[in-house]
Amino acid sequence: MPDKEEVLIQEQQEAISRIAAREDRPLSYYIVTYGCQMNVRDSETLAGMLQNMGMKEAGDRRTADFVLFNTCCVRENAERRALGNVTWLKEIRKENPNLLIAVCGCMIQEPGMAEKIIRQYPFIDLAFGTHNLPRFPMLMEKLLNSRRRVIEVSDQTRMDIYEGQPVVRQSPHEAFITIMYGCNNFCSYCIVPYVRGREVSRESSHIIKEAEELAASGVKDITLLGQNVNSYGLDRPGELRFHELLAFLDSIGIERIRFMTSHPKDISDELIDVMGKAKHVCHALHLPVQHGSNRVLHDMNRRYTREHYLDRVHKLRTAVPDIALSTDIIVGYPGETREEFEETLSLVREVRYASAFTFIYSPRVGTPAARMPKTVSKEEATARIEELIALQKSITAETLQGMVGETHRVLFTEQSRRNSAQFAGKNDYNITVNADADESVIGRILPVRITAAKETTLQGIILE
Ligand code: SF4
Repeated sequence: MPDKEEVLIQEQQEAISRIAAREDRPLSYYIVTYGCQMNVRDSETLAGMLQNMGMKEAGDRRTADFVLFNTCCVRENAERRALGNVTWLKEIRKENPNLLIAVCGCMIQEPGMAEKIIRQYPFIDLAFGTHNLPRFPMLMEKLLNSRRRVIEVSDQTRMDIYEGQPVVRQSPHEAFITIMYGCNNFCSYCIVPYVRGREVSRESSHIIKEAEELAASGVKDITLLGQNVNSYGLDRPGELRFHELLAFLDSIGIERIRFMTSHPKDISDELIDVMGKAKHVCHALHLPVQHGSNRVLHDMNRRYTREHYLDRVHKLRTAVPDIALSTDIIVGYPGETREEFEETLSLVREVRYASAFTFIYSPRVGTPAARMPKTVSKEEATARIEELIALQKSITAETLQGMVGETHRVLFTEQSRRNSAQFAGKNDYNITVNADADESVIGRILPVRITAAKETTLQGIILE
């Protein structure tokens, strides 16, 4: 008897073929993606499904037959921006009455959002949650057949994984591989565990096969994705642990391996050891600290202390002396005092991150932190974040200046947006490097001598 996965894949393929056969001209689609790399990767699957349905990518959302918004709800402004853009398309429909508008992703999975869409956004034709993505072809067929709105949101807390989904990769040189979905951590301010569900890991054999196929097709740089990659495999008895998976992938012939995101409480000595010995794991790590005060970290339910975090940083720097660390920091968390904010500043001075994503705390309905009184005024939070940004900018400038004169390996991927005589790519530290070149450098990893540092990028000369 076919299993659940086989039945779904067959249903998917049948729906895709029927859609491809029904239209007398190829319909066009446009996907707008918000949020993290996980969403970017999901959009690649959605594009794969749409192209298998016979649709072509439109150059502009105003002329597309079908526009899909893959949304994020981690911060309030991402949600506001998505809903604003969806509403703007309603106006476009006046000139293009056949336009179909769809919304998917984390925002739809938020408690109460499906009801809000039904009530307040009647012009949205299709809405589905993160867990319903494999059913997208069936939902699309239902919409095209009925021309009536379709809304489907699963309340499962663990997502089903279906391997072998179609994919249209955005780049032939770099690729994302999602190794697990969901999160079990329930940080007090974060909506992700509620909208993405509990942790579910893919089988390592599937991940390894995907990485081998990417390497064989010429991809040079892969990023392993998960909300907390360090807990990879824990939900699958007998499965490889993350450091074992990383060590195995290091041996298959891919040139560069990155991974994100890493929860500081789960960075193991074994993982640090693998990072120190691996030949292809990049010397860059995103290690979100969120705050420098133990009291705030405790309130955030981060389950590590400042001392533990600094111990991990110390061990990482011992194993990989040139590692470039980046982080996420929240300012103005409920109850944060000036002294506690200064603990964040002192931690930033101590770790010396190459870069940091800084945010003013934004309450997410349904999370424990949203029920806490907001004690930091908007003005005070703005003043604090400006102080933090100024500090980080000076550290980034010093870090980049310290790289001048070094030789870095750069994977060139695109023409510079500011100067057409230059081409740009990332070095092993995940920093953009620009150099005078021509198109022949695209897709190649080349040695570049760093000649100058700009605010967040480097300038260099190709040595070959
Ligand atoms: S680890 Fe915390 S911040 Fe990260 S996704 Fe999970 S709950 Fe959110």
